[in-house]
Amino acid sequence: MSSGSSSNASKTVWTGSCLCKAVKYTVTGDPLTFRVCHCENCRKATGSAFMSNLFYNADNIRVVQGEDKLKYYADPETWNGAPITRVFCSECGSNLFLHPSSKEAVATNTRVVTMGTIDGEVPWVPKTELWPELRRKWVHGIETRKKSRKSEAKL
Ligand SMILES: [Zn+2]
Ligand SMILES: [Zn+2]
Repeated sequence: MSSGSSSNASKTVWTGSCLCKAVKYTVTGDPLTFRVCHCENCRKATGSAFMSNLFYNADNIRVVQGEDKLKYYADPETWNGAPITRVFCSECGSNLFLHPSSKEAVATNTRVVTMGTIDGEVPWVPKTELWPELRRKWVHGIETRKKSRKSEAKL
């Protein structure tokens, strides 16, 4: 199955899955925001240069298969001091979701879906880079809508 797309962007349902396909989920509508994070924790969790995080209201995220396969790692030493629960597939290790515990995230019921696990193409580009000072030197030209702001919450 590939990602859906329709003219009504706000109601579009996107499908996603982990590498082994044991876990499948849907997200409804466009993300609230899209942040690329260069912090060390996100690099370690993904094994990559940065993590691509789509922020959604939890009501718009639905695990449709394999919820029992999900494992939760409470990441206590985040760079902003607020613990984050990293949710991944216990079979294949794919990072699927983040549950931030910052006051703002809890108050707004905001969670993160990893962009890399969405099926097929997505139309969004990052709005913010978090921790750009930690960006790997060979990473250039990430398309963002605006420069990182100090006031943005960091993950
Ligand atoms: Zn999996
Ligand atoms: Zn991070």
